[in-house]
Amino acid sequence: MLLVPHALAAQIAAEAARQYTTAHQAELIQEFSEFLSIPNVAADPANLKRNADLLVEMLKRRNVDSQLLSIPDAPPIVYGKIDVPGAQDTVVFYAHYDGQPVTPSEWEGNSPFTPVIREVNGEQRIYARSAGDDKAAIFAQLTALDALRAGKISLRANIRFVWEGEEEAGSPHLEQILDANRDLVHGDVWLVCDGPVDQSGKQTVVFGARGDAHMEITVYGPHHGLHSGHYGNWAPNPAMMLAQLLAGMKDEDGRVLVPHFFDGIAPLTKIELEALARAPVNDQMLMGSFWLGHVDGSGKHLLELINQPSLNINGLSSGQTGARATNVIPPTATADLDLRLVVGIDWHEQQERVVDYIHSRGYFVVESEPTREILMGHAKVALVTRDLASYNAVRTPMDLPIAQEVIRAVQSARGDVVLLPTMGGSVPLGAMERAAQTHTITVPIANYDDNQHAANENLRLQNLWDGVGTMAALLEMK
Ligand SMILES: [Zn+2]
Repeated sequence: MLLVPHALAAQIAAEAARQYTTAHQAELIQEFSEFLSIPNVAADPANLKRNADLLVEMLKRRNVDSQLLSIPDAPPIVYGKIDVPGAQDTVVFYAHYDGQPVTPSEWEGNSPFTPVIREVNGEQRIYARSAGDDKAAIFAQLTALDALRAGKISLRANIRFVWEGEEEAGSPHLEQILDANRDLVHGDVWLVCDGPVDQSGKQTVVFGARGDAHMEITVYGPHHGLHSGHYGNWAPNPAMMLAQLLAGMKDEDGRVLVPHFFDGIAPLTKIELEALARAPVNDQMLMGSFWLGHVDGSGKHLLELINQPSLNINGLSSGQTGARATNVIPPTATADLDLRLVVGIDWHEQQERVVDYIHSRGYFVVESEPTREILMGHAKVALVTRDLASYNAVRTPMDLPIAQEVIRAVQSARGDVVLLPTMGGSVPLGAMERAAQTHTITVPIANYDDNQHAANENLRLQNLWDGVGTMAALLEMK
């Protein structure tokens, strides 16, 4: 048997993908459109199930063993399995077939489940919910399999497909379903095929995701709204108290001032720092597209800053504004905080650091609605609700042999590849790693400006064709 060097094998796989997608473009767009036409939102479980059934059928059509992994009252995971005689390794491809809720009136020119192709800057894009996030990845994996077979290229590792149906609802049952099927979902690596590539448009491989912890803070003024003329200057205003409390949490450059907030961060390794230094800096371009006259971070780039924990105000509410505004001292003010985490910082501990800070500002902190006695017994009272559905960050070392194998395959197939230690967003990679006893590496394919989670979601078709090449190289990897 002729042993083909790995890099060459990946190039051959990517070339087979290119030839296949060029020759079959029209029918591929047709098949992808049919997949996109089935509504896939959490509120519509019957149609979610139709998506799952279609995927099982698509796998069966390709002679892939497939089944639904189900538990009651949750959309099933679609599972596919290819055993390769003599293969040592198992590569698992994760993606999700559900999408974010839609508001059809916000879509321009087509309804979210009636895919259309439009030209943007001379390039074709397909518009539909989940075109980018995340049906594209599933379709690219299936098409890559077809392309390899058409090119008579044999697989060298066992392949598993794990396609989830409630990622956009926060994956509430993912770990439970995986746990119940440990033997089926175990692999040497899980390739998490979700999200956008780097803003420069280059293929991206990401080795981790930030964790996420939420908490809500409510502070109290008078028991009911008071006339601001009769009581202003005397009754404390909770909106002002909350503004002062929050303002103390960050300096003017956006640096978090909560004590110990950065303690324990696992430093980036040499190879991770080198990857970061080579990654494109897109900050100016992004400031232009977001209409930003300044950014936080004292001159550090976005990619450096997402390797730090963050503290974000998701929302604030107190009293009313606009036509509904009244001259009143409101009774309460509430802020919803989102703490993004990096490896080395535990989500419980990060929440407690913020709670300690609130204490330090003279607040008596309670965990349930305070009574009259509590409110009168303390100068300042804050109700803090810690979201227990939080989770920690995960980062796979780039120098693991399997990580090096993935890098080599993607680089050989796609040339200039952006390698990132972490993505800014959060994915429950920890749940996958625990249940499947594996490492995770994220390989996204969608364009960054795909409007994912919003109206007019789209996929640049070239991202799909390129993505098929990436998936072919990964399917063929040993
Ligand atoms: Zn997604």
